[in-house]
Amino acid sequence: MRRKIVAGNWKLNLDINQGLELVKELAKEVAEKNPVAEVVVTPSFVNLAGIVAELKDSKIEVAAQNVNENKNGAFTGEVAANMLTAIGVEKVILGHSERRAIYGEDDALLAKKVDAAFENNMEVIFCIGEQLEERKENRHFDVVSEQIEKGLFHLEAKAFDKIVLAYEPVWAIGTGETASPEQAQEMHAHIRKVIDTKYGVEVASKLPILYGGSVKPANAKEIFSKEDVDGGLIGGAALKVEDFMGIVTAFN
Ligand code: PEP
Repeated sequence: MRRKIVAGNWKLNLDINQGLELVKELAKEVAEKNPVAEVVVTPSFVNLAGIVAELKDSKIEVAAQNVNENKNGAFTGEVAANMLTAIGVEKVILGHSERRAIYGEDDALLAKKVDAAFENNMEVIFCIGEQLEERKENRHFDVVSEQIEKGLFHLEAKAFDKIVLAYEPVWAIGTGETASPEQAQEMHAHIRKVIDTKYGVEVASKLPILYGGSVKPANAKEIFSKEDVDGGLIGGAALKVEDFMGIVTAFN
């Protein structure tokens, strides 16, 4: 069976007190309910060390929301991958649509960030997804294929042991609008095919592909029941323990 993963993308939310309060309660719930899915939280940089320390005896893992592509140097305000691993953060989200759209992170830059993460043996949750216009113009499959090719196809097959893909149609993020389970499955199957064509069936069939975009406890079970959907990247609903746990336990 492929890994099942539910990751909460906290974005620019929760100070250290709020974050600690959330993860203390979450850790209790996770210990009690023992979910099938791996559980990941992603505090902002400044709160990572505190949350890692709080969760050291729990099964919850901690990821960063971004990393710089450079090892070190004159890059004011940035964070390097080795700085993350030095505080026990072994995973990072890259290519989120907010990073692509608001901060202009393009495919070439993301490919370098992926390399920086891998040089430090981090796992990468790599986000891809089309804009509404692109779907309306029936270009969504091509857009997603291109994001994968340009961001990841320079890698060798073995690197995919440390990759999780997250399909997030941009029109469904934070909008309350969700891709239907059928739309999600259709795209996830396409993604797996793209990986299969380049790297072969073994890599493709092992690769976890998460869905993201207004997942809630009420729709998680149905979306996650689809064959190629291996979990979710969760924004808004990750900020409340009850909602997040409703999603985390959807595979149980
Ligand atoms: C996200 O930001 O990755 C996301 C999926 O957000 P939301 O669940 O709020 O749509």
